[in-house]
Amino acid sequence: MPAAVRRCALAALVLVLAAWAHGVAAAAPWRVVIIRNWDELYRVNETRERALREVLLENSPREIEIYPEQLDNLRFNKKYNAETAAVLQRQYRDIRIDVVIATGLEPLEFAALYRDKVWPGAAIVFMGVTDGWLENWKRPSRTTGITTVLDVAGTLNLGLALLPSARKVYFIAGSSEFDQRYLDQARAAARRFSGRLEPHYITGLSREEIIESTAHVERDALLFYLTVLRDSQGQYGGPYNTILAQIRERSPAPLLSAVYTQWNRGPVGGLSSPSDEHGRAGGRLVRRVLDGADPDLIPIAAVPAAVCQVDWRGLQRWSISEAKVPGYCAIVNRPPQMWRDYFWQFLILVTIIVLQFGLLWVVIVQSRARRIAEQRLRERAIEMARVGRLAAMGELAGSIAHEVNQPIASILSNAEAAKMMLDRGSLDDGKLREILDDICNEDMRAADVVRSVRKMFSRGELNLVPTDINASVSGALRHLAMEAARRGVTLETALGSPLPVVLAEPVELEQVVANLVVNGMEAVGGNPEGMRSIRVATVAAEGGVEIVVSDNGPGLSQADAARVFNTTFTTKKDGMGFGLSIVRTIVHLHGGRVGYEPNVPRGAVFRVWLPATPEA
Ligand code: ADP
Repeated sequence: MPAAVRRCALAALVLVLAAWAHGVAAAAPWRVVIIRNWDELYRVNETRERALREVLLENSPREIEIYPEQLDNLRFNKKYNAETAAVLQRQYRDIRIDVVIATGLEPLEFAALYRDKVWPGAAIVFMGVTDGWLENWKRPSRTTGITTVLDVAGTLNLGLALLPSARKVYFIAGSSEFDQRYLDQARAAARRFSGRLEPHYITGLSREEIIESTAHVERDALLFYLTVLRDSQGQYGGPYNTILAQIRERSPAPLLSAVYTQWNRGPVGGLSSPSDEHGRAGGRLVRRVLDGADPDLIPIAAVPAAVCQVDWRGLQRWSISEAKVPGYCAIVNRPPQMWRDYFWQFLILVTIIVLQFGLLWVVIVQSRARRIAEQRLRERAIEMARVGRLAAMGELAGSIAHEVNQPIASILSNAEAAKMMLDRGSLDDGKLREILDDICNEDMRAADVVRSVRKMFSRGELNLVPTDINASVSGALRHLAMEAARRGVTLETALGSPLPVVLAEPVELEQVVANLVVNGMEAVGGNPEGMRSIRVATVAAEGGVEIVVSDNGPGLSQADAARVFNTTFTTKKDGMGFGLSIVRTIVHLHGGRVGYEPNVPRGAVFRVWLPATPEA
């Protein structure tokens, strides 16, 4: 095989091997050990580890295998750590661990001591170690982590804000190494409050004694719970102990706590780093290290900063006003407050209610105004009715007087004629009977007129019958013939035929014609003799019949024409102004209409239109 070909084949083999190695490496999972201290169900362990694992596994480019290991330094106090390490060393002999996560001080100490033996090559990432415990600590190689803050000072400041009269603070701590370490920190912090707060320590007691002594502290003191993992009798608290709740029940002084996972279990509040946030920050740090960051270059920091929380129920328990809570503290467990939590909904509701009240008010005001208006209207209607009755009475009297005038005049002229004949001796029996018949007829007509006018006024309606218009017109003219002759007026008729039948009351129709003709006779009275003429015509028009009465009198001025049908309008010295208003009333009651127009070349024309009877 030539050398060039051999070189090529070798290069290809190297490439294939490299690709294979890369593929294997990419596929290999990351392995992490989590060393935790004490019972895994302690709230702080549970909260922190759940958050840590969530972040760790979230969108990881590789599988992550987690190996949890448990130390119990609380009870066994590092006594068996060497044996534990030896067991673990055998256990992990063939497993390469990338990162050892130490959650707490003792796990960190363990990892620092045994990492190279048990998990050689692994980096150490710690969390859950209280800031300050690492002073004078020699940072092992390939090690980084985050610390938490035990904010005793911040919590004391909160206590003073809630209870400004407090002069004493009682710290409560158990007897375990951990409890005492917390107590040492509290002591150090309390020194910064000397002069303001006198520190007392409830420690070195059994659990019962601790609870009992918290019941006897002063009302205006502060009670500061640290931890009681083990009491003086060697009794361990365990994850679900109720010591906080019991102290809360007994203590007259408000209870403070700087441990996040103790909140909501009795204390009124405090300042602390949230354990879940801390776990998440730890998870992110582990991922950075797994991704290749050099742990020695990552500075150790306290993460996250402490936050202040106040329990609303604690405020109630120790009768502390909400106004005393500093602005930087969140108040939790407050029952929903309508005004605060549902401000906008409330505002909308209130607006709707206000609007509804507004509307209601408008409706009430309007209905009151309407009631008043209706009352006024009723009063006015009563008044109108009274006035109307008076007017109607006047109109009735006027109408009767107007309408009977003509028959009475006729009776008088008959009687005068009889008297003249008697004086001349020319009155025979036949003549007398004729005159008396005329008088009787006129009298009956007057009675008819009075009856019909009264009826019209009292009921406002007519007794309509199919009526021959021409007959009515002729009847009216017959009664007026003598009067016309006396006045030297020519009565001309032009009766159309055939005419549609009209529903009418004949007596009323005759009155209409009589009124118009009498007015005409009076109007032409000023004309020279022989030039006084009136024409009465009937024609079929617009689905009805028209009666047209025209004369050659002076006619009406434009102003008078506009009010000629008004009741009491008259231009005559002894006129009453009723004639045309009676005409209009009768015509309207018949469903017809009446109008005036000037005659050509002079005079007046009155047109009465009445509807024809609908075809059967
Ligand atoms: P009166 O005859 O009592 O005055 P009317 O109501 O009958 O009452 O008439 C009202 C007025 O109309 C009359 O005074 C008169 O001025 C005018 N008038 C009525 N008919 C005619 C007519 N044919 N020609 C001119 N004026 C008329």
